[in-house]
Amino acid sequence: MSYIQFLGAAGVVTGSKHLINTDGPTGKQGIQVLVDCGLFQGQKEWRERNWADLPIPAREIDAVILTHAHLDHSGWIPRLVKQGFHGPIYATPATIDLCSILLPDSGHLQEEDAEFANKHHYSKHHPALPLYTMQEAQQCMTLFRPVQFGEAKQLTSELSFRFVRAAHILGSSMAEITLTTNGTKNRLLFTGDIGRVRNNNIAPGHVVHSGPTEGESCDLLVMESTYGNRLHPDEDPRPELAALIRTTVQRGGSVIVPAFAVERTQKFLFLLKELMEAGDIPRVPVHADSPMAIKAVEVFLKHEEEFSDQTKAQIKKYGSPLHWPNFYFDTTQDDSKKINESKYPTIIVSASGMVAGGRVLHHLAQRLPDPRNLVLFIGFQAPGTRGYSIKNGAQEVKMLGQVVPVRAQITALEQFSDHADTPELLEWLHTFKTAPKQTYLVHGEPAAASQLRDTMIKDLRWNVQVAAYKEKVQVE
Ligand SMILES: [Zn+2]
Repeated sequence: MSYIQFLGAAGVVTGSKHLINTDGPTGKQGIQVLVDCGLFQGQKEWRERNWADLPIPAREIDAVILTHAHLDHSGWIPRLVKQGFHGPIYATPATIDLCSILLPDSGHLQEEDAEFANKHHYSKHHPALPLYTMQEAQQCMTLFRPVQFGEAKQLTSELSFRFVRAAHILGSSMAEITLTTNGTKNRLLFTGDIGRVRNNNIAPGHVVHSGPTEGESCDLLVMESTYGNRLHPDEDPRPELAALIRTTVQRGGSVIVPAFAVERTQKFLFLLKELMEAGDIPRVPVHADSPMAIKAVEVFLKHEEEFSDQTKAQIKKYGSPLHWPNFYFDTTQDDSKKINESKYPTIIVSASGMVAGGRVLHHLAQRLPDPRNLVLFIGFQAPGTRGYSIKNGAQEVKMLGQVVPVRAQITALEQFSDHADTPELLEWLHTFKTAPKQTYLVHGEPAAASQLRDTMIKDLRWNVQVAAYKEKVQVE
């Protein structure tokens, strides 16, 4: 009897990890595959799960199928490898390129956090240890195997899969998995994260196609629900963004944009360039502050096949951001520190996007207390993260072992989301050729997941349930 076990992203938006376990035709244990292997982020209660062992030994997992590069889907891979996993990790070529910069950076951040905690004695663990190191993350890249979109991959006589477009970020895919056990065929669809179904003006700079692959059919659907209870605003964000930047610069302040260093940052840079060229914002220095700043641009430009016509046209018109005047790519710590010496208005785009760690902490620690500055959120803030607290009006926030007062202007633009909202999800689900027998919602806060479940039952009359952490569901 085959089953799926939800080992993460159940009742929460991070830590995506879904185990498929089959019984072999000979009666011995069959194949065990993990779909995604993400880090838990946000609240301590969740982050502590990163230190727990899986319910089965890592060395007994035969393969990982990775939907996309975001750390909440990929960031636990080095830990899995550290615990003995040595099988192949299947992903699209763009996902592999992104992971080759994201995973080592994640290791580097874990090392830095552990080192900082030890130096300032603010961890209760002595000594504080990294979950994995940069070197361990680099080493696990040898296990990645590229799989093109649409290519059928047979892992064993029981299990085959192919990737289809998810239109979420560069290289992002859904995994269509076919299980054949005892002569019965079951099609499983793991959505990973689902991109915007309608984008263009409301979501500038978007990747491939306007939306995820349509016309799916499966027996069992495991689907994300991040925006299961929300609507994205449908107006063009550019006029508001330009006005916010102009006002901040006029009062002598700087704009700090916490953003994921890969993808989101590059899209945002193109947007700033467009506004600058149109004369809508002043030509102030723009800093992409990340050790990965240059590599991220290179990977972004390398995968032109992934972009919408609109984004291709922008890349053609403006060329590589690495050559734009006024745009700086601060890869070293010294470059990063110099930004803080500047007394003039500056736009700083720096990770992490949810202010969980990274260089953005240093910029915010320095600039949050000054009411002239603007902190602009352009990405999802998971509850429990500093980003969530700041966005929701916290008067002060703890970072780098100090308490920092929040006096800067705080704003969020929701249009940049890479996730479909509820009407878009329904629009996509209505393209299914057949109704899945079972649907499990993952990757959503409890309120979002349960609301989406109710909406889907009402609208589609499907059998929908919210997945629970460590729950095992039988594949019928
Ligand atoms: Zn994602």
